[in-house]
Amino acid sequence: MRLTRYFMPTLKETPTEAQIVSHRLMLRAGMVRQASAGIYSWLPLGFRVLKKIEQIVREEQDRAGAHEVLMPTVQSADLWRESGRYDHYGKEMLRFTDRHGRDMLYGPTNEEVITDIFRFYVKSYRDLPKMLYHIQWKFRDEVRPRFGVMRGREFLMKDAYSFDLDAEAARLSYAKMFMAYLATFDRMGLKAIPMRADTGPIGGDLSHEFIILAETGESEVYCHKDWLNQDVDAANIDYESDLRPRIDALTQLYAATDEMHDAATCPVPAEDLLMARGVEVGHIFYFGTNYSAPLNAAVQTPDGGQAHVHMGSYGIGVSRLVGGIIEASHDEAGIIWPDAVAPFKVALINLRQGDAATDAAAESLYGKLSQAGVEVLYDDREERAGAKFADMDLIGLPWQIIIGPRGAKAGVVELKRRATGDREEIAPEAALQRVIG
Ligand code: ATP
Ligand code: MG
Repeated sequence: MRLTRYFMPTLKETPTEAQIVSHRLMLRAGMVRQASAGIYSWLPLGFRVLKKIEQIVREEQDRAGAHEVLMPTVQSADLWRESGRYDHYGKEMLRFTDRHGRDMLYGPTNEEVITDIFRFYVKSYRDLPKMLYHIQWKFRDEVRPRFGVMRGREFLMKDAYSFDLDAEAARLSYAKMFMAYLATFDRMGLKAIPMRADTGPIGGDLSHEFIILAETGESEVYCHKDWLNQDVDAANIDYESDLRPRIDALTQLYAATDEMHDAATCPVPAEDLLMARGVEVGHIFYFGTNYSAPLNAAVQTPDGGQAHVHMGSYGIGVSRLVGGIIEASHDEAGIIWPDAVAPFKVALINLRQGDAATDAAAESLYGKLSQAGVEVLYDDREERAGAKFADMDLIGLPWQIIIGPRGAKAGVVELKRRATGDREEIAPEAALQRVIG
């Protein structure tokens, strides 16, 4: 992508309304534009990151055996009356009526809709277990939308739902999702710690929040300090095996949100206990028959009876993760994208646009990178070198390849790793191989 043709409206000034670093950097890098309080348009650079995160989430959901669907954003109030949640949900739910006077709402979550789909089609224990998910916009009329996409009113969530014959089987589904979450966040370069959590309004008796530690996080958490170096080995997950022993081993290490933490009974000695703030990036629940009973989602059992299915729901804040990753990975100069979610892999910086030899060298390398399938953003603007460096550090692509008149003459480029700042002068071909590598 040539920067002169792209739409990346970076800002020089730090926006005053942004209180936390990820929000500031997203605005300055031209990733999002606020449309109204807590509601954002995603500009090209931000949208690319959102799509990368979404794709990792999708792949790990698929790997865990869940199937993707797409449910609507606008839902009928009737279903929520059936489940009994319509009156209780409160002001966070955006309610409206259609032209026929029917009560509608913009979905804050999808337990009702998915249960309605399930009960219509699935009638036998033989069709269980099932896990379905979608990645869809939600609306919650938060009292205090803030921190940019971290606490929006409209936000993108992956929500999955599991259906099982009984509690024992439901816990297996829960275990699969638990591991899928660890794998998902691991692939994004995040250390997300699963914490025993309060089940809140969804109800139920088993719940974990996945939290990444960040000073600006809204959750107060307590965990054993060894969580910081715990390796979850997420790449090696066999979803056909019983994952529970592995989860038991992992959760030997204490971690709890403040609602669940009790200093009096905490098993961790004070010197090993980490008190920190964090951002909730995912939340999983097992809630039994709390929805299947009122909505009457039942299947035939092996002995010929009928039973309400046991369900779980599993959310990931896809749009919140964009901010969360930046909170976890940045420096004074800007964002440092982990490779897996970077909007482009390489920034190709032409230091003297208009100089024939430099342009030729840059164009040639741009062609080769594109040919090799490397996502490259070519800074072909007629700008000062300093301004280009500042912008490219701000947007934080993993690699920078810098070409100037001196290097063009000598047949070398400078290759810089954004995360470490390490630089080396090498031949263009060698740089190409390194970034492909
Ligand atoms: P929070 O405690 O942060 O308000 P929640 O517990 O209400 O979140 P869930 O219902 O568990 O949220 O939603 C699943 C996931 O969706 C959360 O783990 C979070 O990552 C994301 N999420 C929830 N609310 C928002 C929001 N207002 N803006 C962005 N992401 C959100
Ligand atoms: Mg939650």
